Amino acid sequence: MKMRLSKSIVGNAEAEAVSKVICEDGYLGMGATTREFEADLAMYLGVETWQVVSVNSGTAALQLAVQAAMVAAGKKASDLPEILVPSLTFVASFQAVSAMGCVPVPCDVLENTGTLDLEDAARRLTDKTIAVMHVDYASNPWKIDRVYDFAKSHGLRVIDDAAHAFGCRHHGHKIGSFGDLVCFSFDGIKNITCGEGGCLVAFDEASAAIAADSRLLGVRGDTAKRFSGARSWDPDVTLQGFRFHLSNIMAAIGRVQLGRLEGEFIPARRALYEQYRRHLEQMPAVRMLETDPADFIVPHIMPVRVPAARRDEIVTRLDAGGIPTGMHYKPNHLLTLFASGAPSLPHAEKLYDELVTLPLHPGLSANDVGLVCGQLQKAMDS
Ligand SMILES: *Cc1c(COP(=O)(O)O)cnc(C)c1O
Repeated sequence: MKMRLSKSIVGNAEAEAVSKVICEDGYLGMGATTREFEADLAMYLGVETWQVVSVNSGTAALQLAVQAAMVAAGKKASDLPEILVPSLTFVASFQAVSAMGCVPVPCDVLENTGTLDLEDAARRLTDKTIAVMHVDYASNPWKIDRVYDFAKSHGLRVIDDAAHAFGCRHHGHKIGSFGDLVCFSFDGIKNITCGEGGCLVAFDEASAAIAADSRLLGVRGDTAKRFSGARSWDPDVTLQGFRFHLSNIMAAIGRVQLGRLEGEFIPARRALYEQYRRHLEQMPAVRMLETDPADFIVPHIMPVRVPAARRDEIVTRLDAGGIPTGMHYKPNHLLTLFASGAPSLPHAEKLYDELVTLPLHPGLSANDVGLVCGQLQKAMDS
């Protein structure tokens, strides 16, 4: 069977949990299982249950975070509020900002990590800036304290796009256990999956309450009703809402996955990453991204840097050798919607030319990593 770049690791336990929702509970929407999943997440992260707002995608979590930042700043879309976003990220980070009527301002990244370059972000501050987004690129919480300090000194909210970082720790603290507005994705290939899903972790009650209502079409207090199996037949709606809630079916998958994280997925991902490190140390022309030894990384993807002039040829050779590769990411300022499409952020563009993502998921073996690195070595030598 052909090797996969990334993959959902699901099986009988997830199937049984879904089957229980369908055959025994019979209620497929947002209900008791969703509530239990939120409680499990809160317990895992070490936060209160009110802080965790589950949704049906990571993108939805980001949209709710943007909305909370807008409400807190007293801004409407017609004010054209701006949010600083590192350009090297999944297009979801940008789309979530523009979907809410805010302007995503592309910022450069640090060449050695691919994470937000705060000096560049500082140059892009205006009186319309309401928030700064940090993306834990390749699961790297790199110096995120500095982002919080920066935000504090400029009166901004912080949106942590932690889609890659579920299970990671920054200086001993789990991502999602501290901060402001932290967004996780549980899509098919993330560190845990619901099929599709995500959550926002908020650290102030106002934002959590806004997000909880907003995910259910803005119906006030509907979350508590749904969790007790009731509905709101006499609703009031005070803000724009969305159909972002997570169903019992997806939550059932998420609960099983969360239970497998510490014992199975984290050690597997970290062991594969270590194997990559040992092989890549022997290849001076292939560079890994830098991480802080004080951070605990649970790698979601495995991007490496190769000489730009040879990148495409190396990708072709790997493909011919049966090794799938990816590209994380085309910088968003090069997309027509989010800028002129013109080059302007040198580090993001340099990484775009150098990056190749190698296969990484818990379904791979040490032998598979050896195979990938053998093919990579061959491609480099040719
Ligand atoms: C996956 C991802 C998202 C969006 O999550 P979905 O669940 O796919 O909507 C956002 N940002 C980054 C960096 C991601 O990798």
